[in-house]
Amino acid sequence: MQETFSLMVHGGAGALDNVKDTKTALRYLESIRTVLEHGREILSMGGSALEAVESCASQLEDDPVFNAGCGSVLNESGKVEMDAAIMDGRDLSAGAIAAVSNIANPVQLARLVMAESEHVMLISEGAMKFADHCGIKLTPDHYFFTPDRIQQLEQARLQHRIMLDHDDSDEASEEQKYGTIGAVARDLEGNLAAATSTGGIVNKRIGRVGDSPIIGAGVFADNQTCAVSTTGFGEDFMRTVLAKTVSDAMEFLQCDARGAVAYGIEYLKRKVNGRGGMIVIDHHGNCAADFTTKKMIHGWIEKSGQSEAGF
Ligand code: ASP
Repeated sequence: MQETFSLMVHGGAGALDNVKDTKTALRYLESIRTVLEHGREILSMGGSALEAVESCASQLEDDPVFNAGCGSVLNESGKVEMDAAIMDGRDLSAGAIAAVSNIANPVQLARLVMAESEHVMLISEGAMKFADHCGIKLTPDHYFFTPDRIQQLEQARLQHRIMLDHDDSDEASEEQKYGTIGAVARDLEGNLAAATSTGGIVNKRIGRVGDSPIIGAGVFADNQTCAVSTTGFGEDFMRTVLAKTVSDAMEFLQCDARGAVAYGIEYLKRKVNGRGGMIVIDHHGNCAADFTTKKMIHGWIEKSGQSEAGF
């Protein structure tokens, strides 16, 4: 049988009330489809799953409508602090960075941590020092500060709360944008990889780190099981170690991507009433996604098929 590749990406989970506006909805779906087709070019030419997730995640970080890279949300002091991670299912090698600022593509820095350092995670000042050592130039503040993000922080401050980029609560603004990004892939050789990147949650405390850079919570990839990227309230995913829980479900229950996602969602709800969702590709290339929020923007190419995108 001829080998196929699979690819999934997400742009965050939440209420996504602004999809009521068709033009905005189309804008997001188009962005997801463009990234999928970009990933198709890499994977169909024999590129690795790792290369595909890094490149797709970088493209999503470069799109200001998503809460990652240039579109990152602001913390309580009005600053951008980003988290990202990448994992290679071949040998469980992984790289992560947390609470970094002025880095245009945090996922690329995470990959460098994996490839060029003896560590898995670097944070804050140390991660920035490592970026400098790798020759990554700092990107000025104005690249990250969009008027939408400033307005969103002001709203959160007025309500004295922290919130998801695309909050589910009744008070959520219809203007809120989509969120955190992630990519998972299976290449023609059957290797799996996953990446997640985020600005976190609006009005978060300085130094708060969410699930996205935590291996096993916001990201996981193992060639024997699956590749997972999550999105939602990070604290819920950290407490349930959700990405690894999904991988374990596949290993111990011998289920496919769909079965593992169903298990993960049920576990997230039952244990912590968690808010968020996930994308998963299993080692056979089956794609599955689900969420406990109202919506999650995501898209996929299953077994070299058509690209699909939806909420
Ligand atoms: N999981 C991210 C965090 O808690 C937020 C998100 O997925 O939108 O930092």
